Amino acid sequence: MCIVGAGAAGIYAANYFHTMGIKDYIVCEASERLGGRVRTDKDGIEIGGEFVHGEGSLLSKLLKRIGAKTRLAFDWEQETGIQFYHKGQFLDSNSKIIKELNETLENMLDTDKLKEPNDVSFKDYLEQNNKSKDITSLVDARLAKTNGTDNDKQSVLGHTLEDETWPFGVKNFQLEKGYSMTQVIDYLVKPLEKNHIWRNYTVHTIDYTNPSKIVINDGEIICDYVIVTVPISILKQRNTPFGLTFNPPLPKDKAIAIDQMLGMDAGHKVHLYFKKPVWGRTISDKHSVVIITDHPLITQMWFPGTTQTKDGLYVVNGFSTGSATVSAKGVCDQHAIESFRDLLAKMYGHDRNNDGFVRGHVFDWKRDAPTVFGAYSYSKVTKGQRWDGQNHPRNVLARSIDKRVFFAGEGTSLHAFATIQGGLESGETAARQVLGAMQNEHMRSRL
Ligand SMILES: Cc1cc2nc3c(=O)[nH]c(=O)nc-3n(C[C@H](O)[C@H](O)[C@H](O)COP(=O)(O)OP(=O)(O)OC[C@H]3O[C@@H](n4cnc5c(N)ncnc54)[C@H](O)[C@@H]3O)c2cc1C
Repeated sequence: MCIVGAGAAGIYAANYFHTMGIKDYIVCEASERLGGRVRTDKDGIEIGGEFVHGEGSLLSKLLKRIGAKTRLAFDWEQETGIQFYHKGQFLDSNSKIIKELNETLENMLDTDKLKEPNDVSFKDYLEQNNKSKDITSLVDARLAKTNGTDNDKQSVLGHTLEDETWPFGVKNFQLEKGYSMTQVIDYLVKPLEKNHIWRNYTVHTIDYTNPSKIVINDGEIICDYVIVTVPISILKQRNTPFGLTFNPPLPKDKAIAIDQMLGMDAGHKVHLYFKKPVWGRTISDKHSVVIITDHPLITQMWFPGTTQTKDGLYVVNGFSTGSATVSAKGVCDQHAIESFRDLLAKMYGHDRNNDGFVRGHVFDWKRDAPTVFGAYSYSKVTKGQRWDGQNHPRNVLARSIDKRVFFAGEGTSLHAFATIQGGLESGETAARQVLGAMQNEHMRSRL
């Protein structure tokens, strides 16, 4: 069998086959790296997935198995570990506006709405409910950007369903210094035979017309089963350097889910390194995430678990998605770095010309990772009736075609959407389904 993509989903599926004693698989990875959107730089700073969202997930279990320590970073429900910086000042979590924000989010994501056939975007919902500009920008920075997009693209009904099926709770953890997400990938890759993993090998075509074999890249690979784990952004592409073409074309419901109902926008991280922690004492372990409403490129920032790098520097991470990214705005890295420095000086009241700044680094997942081409998937607003769990586009995409072409990756996970655990779990599910299909085939051939 063939696994397309070596991110969390693809690597977990390969590891699962290996553990089950199945050796005839290959993993095709278009880039030279393994791990996909799990990526740690040489300083131990996470360029991609960073937080362990919730408790009891496959990711938490793997981290435990490899002995990685985590610490609580923030908790949305209790609003601990989170600060809001709005119109040039920090807001008290008991302030009127934060209370209104929380109430608005609660009402907007009310599961009773799932009975409504017509979807609206966050933006339309907020307008229809006469919400102020301040609340609208807080919702955008706090939720839409966390979900990988802007208020006007994010679906209320699609996200409500994701939110209500999320089983891992509201606590969010960071890895302690010395541990990284890449260690999880390394742990899963370690037992695999190296010649089963083809790096720099792009899958362009998957032909499943012949009922007894699947032909990949015009016959370079012939297999019985394929697990496609590439990001939604890649599935949306046709005839581009990393895009995939299916023959016959994907069934209509899957094509609609990919092209119209799921989105994947840009997302970037801007890391700044300082000789001293310019954010001073205002940031403790109890306050690690700041939501920022009025900066064009940094809508959230936080302080990586490592905080101090090996060479003794202090790091702060600026994050944004959707229209507030360097690739969407078409601005240069230097601009993003300098404006983030300005923002920090404004927030923490220091002299930006004497801030001990050493260097800055920008990674935009749309611009800098062409085989990923975006941050992560989100439910896109569409008009239509699709809001029982079965018809959620993530579930539509997750279904196999003829028990031969399987789909995994974070985009296929409803309850663990847009996360590393979504990737891992979906890889496991698809691998189990392949084993089930193999067993059925074996039984049939003995009859
Ligand atoms: C900036 C950022 C921050 C994030 N923060 C968090 C977080 O804090 N916590 C969290 O849980 N998650 C976070 N995520 C999301 C998480 O990283 C992803 O959901 C998860 O890693 C996706 O795994 P995957 O296997 O589904 O996809 P990927 O990791 O994207 O793997 C797919 C692989 O397919 C390869 N590929 C693409 N096209 C082809 C082709 N044609 N042929 C062969 N191979 C191909 C790609 O190169 C890639 O390696 C974040 C992501 C980003 C970008």
